[in-house]
Amino acid sequence: MKHVSIAIDGPAGAGKSTVAKITAERLGFQYIDTGAMYRAYTLKVLNNGIDPTDERMVLTLLESTNIDFRDNRIILDGAAVDDEIREGSITRNVSYIASYKAVREKMVSLQQEMSKRKSVVMDGRDITTVVLPFADFKFFVTATAEERGRRRYLELLENGVEGITLEDTIADIKRRDTFDSTREESPLTRTDDSYLVDTTHMTIEEAVEHIISIVRNSKIMADESENQLE
Ligand code: C5P
Repeated sequence: MKHVSIAIDGPAGAGKSTVAKITAERLGFQYIDTGAMYRAYTLKVLNNGIDPTDERMVLTLLESTNIDFRDNRIILDGAAVDDEIREGSITRNVSYIASYKAVREKMVSLQQEMSKRKSVVMDGRDITTVVLPFADFKFFVTATAEERGRRRYLELLENGVEGITLEDTIADIKRRDTFDSTREESPLTRTDDSYLVDTTHMTIEEAVEHIISIVRNSKIMADESENQLE
């Protein structure tokens, strides 16, 4: 049976990962958070005392690195690192790591392998353009920088993070937007064939419903259920 692929791109804080995760659960697909993979490698770089801006040194760890998902947990060299990769130090440095060509090549090839094993919902910055350019469904999930900053700020407060301001959080979001959209390797862009989902005035549930209705009403899914019945 052919596996169905849903590719979701968009900037930081648009609700992309939450929407992708719930969509995958409801459709019974595997969710692949590609940002978590770049974060995991950033964790390894920092744990090894390597300067993230030193590309040559960063690349020395690449070959010996194993990144996978098990039961929706991100596994770095055999250990689950879900909590560690959300630390501020990782968020501040991940864009450097994700800008290196060799790092991207390794992650993209791992991601393409994962999409062959199962039906997937995969989210990131280059999924609709580079990783799954022939995905069955493509979405670009976004919101204004101010709204994304506000959401990220509330999330940090909820997690008990101290010493941050709303202004700093919005500035950090804008800094990452610029970095991710202007980098040479696979910059974040919206492809012509991606559905635009602007979540500025939407709840998570509304965004999920919107995506699922597009997927369920498509001919691809009708063909899939026919195949399953045969
Ligand atoms: O999605 P998340 O915010 O966790 O991603 C962290 C960072 O990883 C992004 O800011 C971006 O620099 C990088 N990234 C990427 N390509 C992807 C996913 C994430 O460059 N497919």
